[in-house]
Parts: sequence; structure tokens; C-alpha cells
Amino acid sequence: MNIAVAGTGYVGLVTGTCLAEMGQTVVCFDVQKEKIAALQQRRSPIYEPGLEQLIQKNMSAGRLSFTADEKKAYGEADIVFLAVGTPEQEDGSANLTYIEEAVRSIARNMEKDVIIVTKSTVPVGTNERIRQMMERLKPPFLRISVVSNPEFLREGSAIHDWFYGDRIVIGASKEDEEAVAVVAKLYEPLGIPMMKTDLASAEMIKYASNAFLATKISFINEIANICEKVGATIDDVAYGIGLDKRIGPQFLQAGIGYGGSCFPKDTKALVQIAGNVQHRFELLEAVIQVNNKQQSMLVEKAKQYVGCLRGKKIALLGLAFKPNTDDVREAASLVIANQLIGEGATVVAYDPIAVDNAKKHFPPSVQYADAIIEAIRGADAAFIVTEWDEIKRTPLSVFREHMRTPIVLDGRNCYSPEEARRSHVTYISIGRAPVL
Ligand code: NAD
Repeated sequence: MNIAVAGTGYVGLVTGTCLAEMGQTVVCFDVQKEKIAALQQRRSPIYEPGLEQLIQKNMSAGRLSFTADEKKAYGEADIVFLAVGTPEQEDGSANLTYIEEAVRSIARNMEKDVIIVTKSTVPVGTNERIRQMMERLKPPFLRISVVSNPEFLREGSAIHDWFYGDRIVIGASKEDEEAVAVVAKLYEPLGIPMMKTDLASAEMIKYASNAFLATKISFINEIANICEKVGATIDDVAYGIGLDKRIGPQFLQAGIGYGGSCFPKDTKALVQIAGNVQHRFELLEAVIQVNNKQQSMLVEKAKQYVGCLRGKKIALLGLAFKPNTDDVREAASLVIANQLIGEGATVVAYDPIAVDNAKKHFPPSVQYADAIIEAIRGADAAFIVTEWDEIKRTPLSVFREHMRTPIVLDGRNCYSPEEARRSHVTYISIGRAPVL
């Protein structure tokens, strides 16, 4: 089996590398030539724990290669995994330009029958459109099949998730049963529960999963906001809720909302998908609204406890949308940095991994520190935005020692109120009483 992967982002690179690790021969293609050049030199263009080592191992074994030449990528391919981006458009719907470009490129270059496996998150109906496009554009003597295989990996633990995921979803129409068997066989060695369904249901499972998880986050955040007002403590409330097996303990961490390249865009896309069939998805609209409000919450609290922010030095700790990734897409840190600068504050940011990416997206006046202590030294307040281990391991006493006024606004509840009291810092977190 020759496998090609279109797109070497978080999903494509992990897919290609892990398939190679499972013994397959894989070639990955990307339109960004500089990404391919870095990969050909065995450097990963993204940060994902363990990925670079696995790339190097499989390149050395001759199973994994990278090319910017579409003929080399698709000419000999039996299976092509589509893992290109499907970013948000202005109206919230998914931009399918990259999918369409990749499909055209496969059709132009294929020299064998090919199975197209869509890993990218695409609106319901897209795989059917991919089939129609391919039927129109492919050489008439070759056959194509289309399989939907949505991806559920989480950045930061993507390789673990590939090998130990909860489920594999494979969607196809009746006429592509043979292709389903081929794709299922690829995954069989993983021993992960596999479900087979039709194309539209597979596409919907991905959106519904992300929408449900986003709903859980906005729900617990609203409960946290109410806890603050009625004198309850979110840690105990979340623990108590999670003991109910119907609810479960996961995804009940209150904070300043979800970010990243998936939840924000996929929730908006699902509102659009529903809208297209005249269904107003009011619940999900509220989830999105709650999240937008939540991301701004710390700045409002800062104004309350620090006072006017003009001319104040604020440390911003953590820029990635979550720990163990360099991805800053739709990160709460970006919203907060913009608001703080809008208020006239000086922002000094620290992140162990994501600074290079942040520099491309953040306001130019943000300064960057090389260490936590450098960011908080002389600061009037510190915002904790990403719960990196390095940040969680820094005792609050260090904040007391180095800040001008030790006011810590913790958007991820990294510390206990007891530690804050012991360390004599003003500590404002989510869903708990402030420590003043
Ligand atoms: P990404 O932006 O990191 O990578 C996309 C890559 O596709 C880029 O390197 C881009 O240059 C490349 N590309 C664009 N057009 C191309 C073309 N015509 N041919 C080949 N390459 C092309 O995106 P990502 O985060 O890997 O996400 C990819 C898809 O997977 C999206 O639909 C996303 O919603 C979905 N997804 C992402 C995650 C995640 O955690 N990142 C998880 C599950 C699903």
C-alpha cells in the first residue's frame, strides 16, 4: 500500500508519521515549501511532544518521506489522507478552498485507483461533493472511493491519542464498502473500537463531539461564575457533579474558556450547518457567547482589583491555547493581550514554547520574557492564561518576591486559595472567592 497525506499540519504530520510507525510507506505533501524543506531536514515545523523523534526514526527506516512535488505525492498513491486546513470564514462557515485544491491536485496526478480518506473536519455533505469533483476530474479509466475518517486527536497528546484513541469513525456510502475494509485494516493493529457508518453521520459525529465538549466547558464556566456570586467553590462543585457516572469528571475544569484551532471554528461551523437547513441551534449559540464573555473575564477582574491599567506592567503567563503545544490559534491569551494593550498596559509575555508563533499574531507592542521571573519582575499584576507545568510548579511565594504588587489573576485555577493565603498574594481565580 502506498499512502499519501495531503497537509503536514498538526493532523497530517501526526497521521503520516504514526502510519509510518505502524509499518506503512507514507509520503506527505504540503503546499508550503518551507515546511517540506524543514521536514526533509528531519525538523518538525510544529511542536508536538515526541513527534520529531518519531519523524526521524521513520525517515531513517525509509518508511516516511516528504515532498513538495504533487506528482511524487499522488502518482503512486493507493490511499490519500486529506488533512488540509478547513479554517473559519467570516460568516463562521468552513472554508473548503484547501480541500478543493487538494482534490484537484489528486485528480490531476493520480495514476492508479485511489481511496480518498478525509481526516479534515468538513461540513456534512462535503465528502459527497469530493466524490462528485473527483468523478468529474479524474482520468476516466481510474476508479476512486471516498471515505470519511474524522480525526479526534488533541494537540499536546496527539501521538498518544493516535495509538490509544477512544474510537475510530469510518463513514462511507454503500458503493465504497471495499474501501472501508481497506481503511479498517490499516487501523486494525491499534485495537481501538471502530464504528462504521454513512458519510453524513461520520461528518456529523465530529462536529457533534466538539460541540458537546465546548458545551461542557461553557456550562461549567457559567456554574463557576454563579459560584463566585453565591459563595460556593467550583472545585468542590465540579468534583461533586463528576461523581455522577452519567456526567463523569472529565472536561469540568472551569477557566477562561476554550480556544485553539478546533472548538471555536467547529462550533461556529455547526451553527451554520444547522442554519443551512433552517434550524437555529440556540444552545450552541449560547455556548459560543458564554465562551466569548469568559475570555474577557480576567481583564474585567483586573480592573476591579488593580484599578486603572494604564501604564501598569502586566505579566502574561502562557500564550498557547493549552499546554504542550505551540498553537496560539484563537487562544484566550490573544484576546487578553489585545484588551490589556487597549487599556494602556505594558504587556510582558512568557511561554515556554509558543513565543515564535505568538509573535506572528500578537500586537507588536507585546514584549517577551525568557523566563517566568523575568516576566513578573516589577509587575503590577500577573495573568495566568495557560496551565503549563512550569507555571504550575512556580510557587506563589515567587510572585510575592518579584512583583511590584503581588496580584495574581489565574484563569486556569493552577493554585489553591490556601497557598495564596500562605504566600500573601492577592489571588483571583475562577469560581472561587478571591483571596485578598
Ligand atoms: P494546520 O493548519 O496545522 O495544517 C494544515 C496544512 O495543510 C498546512 O500545512 C497547509 O499548508 C496545508 N495545505 C493547505 N492546502 C493544501 C493543499 N492543497 N495540499 C496540501 N497541503 C495543503 O491544520 P490542522 O490543525 O492540522 O487541521 C487540519 C484539519 O484537521 C482541519 O480540518 C481541522 O479542523 C482538523 N482537525 C484538527 C485537529 C487539531 O487538533 N489541530 C484535531 C482534529 C481535527
